[in-house]
Amino acid sequence: MTLWFVRGLRRGVVTTRYPARPDASAAQLPTPPSFRRNALDRAVADRLAAICPSHALRVEPDTLVFDVGACTACGRCQDAAPGAVARSGTFELAATSRDDLVKRIPLTPEAGQ
Ligand code: SF4
Repeated sequence: MTLWFVRGLRRGVVTTRYPARPDASAAQLPTPPSFRRNALDRAVADRLAAICPSHALRVEPDTLVFDVGACTACGRCQDAAPGAVARSGTFELAATSRDDLVKRIPLTPEAGQ
């Protein structure tokens, strides 16, 4: 512990400049999914909701409800339906209201997969 303290005093700040500047390593981080509306039908939505381990996805009539606040960015949904789900690339998801983290995605009838 003392060694790190002394090293810090000698070298100064060695952390990244984030959030003042984007950090290049952010491109490698797992991120919540984004959904392609045209490829999301009821069958695909049901499949995605069934495999989501954190229950971030649920299906209501004609709508896929995505709770971004519950998503762990595990990637299972993208693996299950790569034509309908993609990596969003966004990890800065702070919101002042919990409701702002819940997205409602209309389903497309017979989108196919
Ligand atoms: S990335 Fe994982 S936790 Fe997030 S919605 Fe997809 S399956 Fe659920």
